[in-house]
Amino acid sequence: VRERKNLLPTTTGIDLINTISNDLLKSVELTGIWERKLRLIEKGKYEAKSFMDEMKTMVTDLVVEVKKENNAAIPIHKDEKLQTKNLKTNQKLKSETNDLTCPKCKQFPLIKGNTAYGCAGYKEGCDFKINFVNYGKKLSQNQFDDLICKGKTPLLKGFIINKQKVSGRLQLNDRFQLILLQDNAPARKSKEAGLNCPNCKTGKILKGKSAYGCSRFREGCHFLIRFDKLLKKYNTDVLTEEILLMWEKRE
Ligand SMILES: [Zn+2]
Ligand SMILES: [Zn+2]
Repeated sequence: VRERKNLLPTTTGIDLINTISNDLLKSVELTGIWERKLRLIEKGKYEAKSFMDEMKTMVTDLVVEVKKENNAAIPIHKDEKLQTKNLKTNQKLKSETNDLTCPKCKQFPLIKGNTAYGCAGYKEGCDFKINFVNYGKKLSQNQFDDLICKGKTPLLKGFIINKQKVSGRLQLNDRFQLILLQDNAPARKSKEAGLNCPNCKTGKILKGKSAYGCSRFREGCHFLIRFDKLLKKYNTDVLTEEILLMWEKRE
């Protein structure tokens, strides 16, 4: 395989060389013979044609010998770069033809409607549907493809939740409903720092690893909103003042 100007043996090639036990081919002697003959050809003392014929005979003999000696197949190593390239091409093709299969029923293709993508098997009872616009943001075709193929979009800016601008990822939950997970960027802290604890009224709402809690938990305030509960109720883990108020009334 030619890479830039150097000849690099492929893994398959190295395996091939290792399987060749013909000493002549690997020997320095052979190279010497070839070089001598090439010099003779230059000087016109040796026929180029006979040299080529010799080479052909030798290579043919060698191939026969390798075949005989090595019934075990030489593993062919696929070029990894080539594979990823093909994969990318496939993915691109997928998005171009919009030939995505419904992730919920895994049977029917997804079809593009006027305001949403839906499952072609809706008559068969599959209710999978994703709106083009979610949380005030329109999904691009690529973002939609990611959502379907990878189960989530990359980090996106410009979602709006309760009048707040939010960055996050759209994701499918285990019931294939769309949820928004907010980015854990530091900017988030300042936005949420203003929320007061509705329980003790003096503490601040803090974000922990799996829940929002009160800054006065050491003083005995056990106010807690678990992320999974928040996600279940509001399809997002972003705690806003509005959600907090609703939460207060509900609990
Ligand atoms: Zn479906
Ligand atoms: Zn509190």
